[in-house]
Amino acid sequence: MGDHYQSLVPKNVSSNDVAAFAERGTQFLIAREIVLPDSTDCILGDGGGYPPGPASDSVVQEPQRYSHYKTLKTNGVQVIAKRTFFYGWTDFPIQCPKCGADHKSHHYVWGDAVDQWYHGDDGALLRCTACGNATRVTEWEYRGQVAFGDLGFTFWNWPVLREDFVAEFSLMMQRGVASLCGKI
Ligand SMILES: [Zn+2]
Repeated sequence: MGDHYQSLVPKNVSSNDVAAFAERGTQFLIAREIVLPDSTDCILGDGGGYPPGPASDSVVQEPQRYSHYKTLKTNGVQVIAKRTFFYGWTDFPIQCPKCGADHKSHHYVWGDAVDQWYHGDDGALLRCTACGNATRVTEWEYRGQVAFGDLGFTFWNWPVLREDFVAEFSLMMQRGVASLCGKI
């Protein structure tokens, strides 16, 4: 069956501000009762997450239809406060910002540049095989399914988040927020 996820990734959070923004987002979710205040073993991978709270249905689409998410073992919100290459559906083309050529996002095309960025090189370059120009890997066009960030909030197995909630979250964060869905 697999596990679905949706990640909200605030843009332009500098590494110095990650802890403060992680706290702000977490406290917002708790105060609105979207999640419960105590972290439990309800996510995939290491660390804990926050289970759905009494008001979680108010921020998702079609909560009645997908109400079983509240009974799943993996249904928490994971706060990821470290450099992460967030991605959703991987079968999408990426576009060179210089010439507009589409490239399939297979790892052999862009994996090295993502690795360099992940290891701390903010200026890691990806060269376009169509026009030969090199552009920062973070500045390619990813059609919304990739976000480079040092902070993200991943909702495991929740129904799709309502757009007005994503907008509210963005307003609260005072940042644009990338939203991406995927499945593993
Ligand atoms: Zn190009």
